[in-house]
Amino acid sequence: MKDIVLIEPNCPQWKGNLHMHTNRSSDCNTDHIEALNEYKSKGYNFILVSDHEIYWASEQADSEGFCTLYGAESAFNRHPKRPYELAEEAKSLHLNIIQDENAAAEIPCFEHDQILPRPVDFGLDSWNACIDRYKKMGHIVMLNHPNWSRLSPELMLGINGCFAFEVFNGGSIWEVGCYTDDAIWDYCLRHGKRIYAAAGDDTHKYAEEGECCGSSFNMLSTPELNRRAIVDGLKSGNFYPSTGPLIYEMRIENDTLYMRFSPARSIRIIGAPGHGVGKLMPKNKTIEEYSWKIDNKLQYFRIVIAAPDGGKAWTQPVFLEDILEEPRYNNVR
Ligand SMILES: [Zn+2]
Ligand SMILES: [Zn+2]
Repeated sequence: MKDIVLIEPNCPQWKGNLHMHTNRSSDCNTDHIEALNEYKSKGYNFILVSDHEIYWASEQADSEGFCTLYGAESAFNRHPKRPYELAEEAKSLHLNIIQDENAAAEIPCFEHDQILPRPVDFGLDSWNACIDRYKKMGHIVMLNHPNWSRLSPELMLGINGCFAFEVFNGGSIWEVGCYTDDAIWDYCLRHGKRIYAAAGDDTHKYAEEGECCGSSFNMLSTPELNRRAIVDGLKSGNFYPSTGPLIYEMRIENDTLYMRFSPARSIRIIGAPGHGVGKLMPKNKTIEEYSWKIDNKLQYFRIVIAAPDGGKAWTQPVFLEDILEEPRYNNVR
C-alpha cells in the first residue's frame, strides 16, 4: 500500500460555505453585503454566493483573508404536463454551479447579476445534459440537498458530472426536517460512483431571523487563499465537510490510517464490501487521535467523527484501488 498524506498538518486549512442566499434571491431578506459580513464575522474565508438563478461574479465583497466564489444555484422547473420522478412533492433538482477559472470554457459563461433561465425537467437525461452544459461553460457542479429533493439512490447514481453533493444542508434540516444523506452516499460509493461530500448552510435567514448561518462549513487545504486555489481544492477533494469537529491530520503509512482531530466522542470507519469499525468513548471522555490497520479487502472506506455535542465531520472516501501498489487479482476460475 502506498504511503499518502490526505490532510497535511502543515498546510493551511480555510473555512468555507458553499451554499447561501441573499436578497438577490426572492426567498431571503438579507442584503448581500450584510450576509457576507455575517460570514466574515464567523471566521469564514471563502463563500459561494449561490443565489437562485442570479449569477455572482464580483470581487466587491472580497478582502484580506476572504474571497467569494463565482456562481449561482440553478433549479429545474417542473414540466406542467409530465410529472417526473421528483414532481410528486413539488420538489426539483437543484445544482450549485461554481466557476472554475482554470477550465477552458467552450460556451460563454454568465456575467455578474445575469439571470439564469430555469431548465424544464424532463427527467434524468435532461439533468445530465444541463450539468454537462454548465461544465462546458467552465463550472464545477454540486448536487444540492438530495434529501430535500426526494432524490432516490438510483437516480443519484444516474446523475453524472457532479464533483460533490451536500451530505449536510442547513436549510433542509432546520426548516423542513430533512436529515443528512450518508446512506445515499454509501449507496453510490458501493456502486463505484466517485463523488465527494460537501456541507452547505443554504442560509435563507440571518441573525435574529434564525441561525442557519454558520451551521456547517468545509475545511479546505491549500497553501494560498484565492478563487483558483479554492476551486482546485474542491475539484481534487482536498476538503472535508463538518458541523463542528476539525481534522488536523490524516495519512496512510505502513498500511495504517492515522488521524488527529479535535476532541471527539466517537469515530466510525465506514467501508464496503463488508464492514468498517467504530469506537465510542465512555461518557465524559474524548478521543483526539486514532489509528487503524487498513482492511485491504475493502473497496473504499471513509471516516465520520462526532463531537460530544453531536457535531460531525466527514472525510472524503479513500478508494483502495488508488492506494494499493498492485491491482487486485482473484485467481478463482
Ligand atoms: Zn436548493
Ligand atoms: Zn439554496
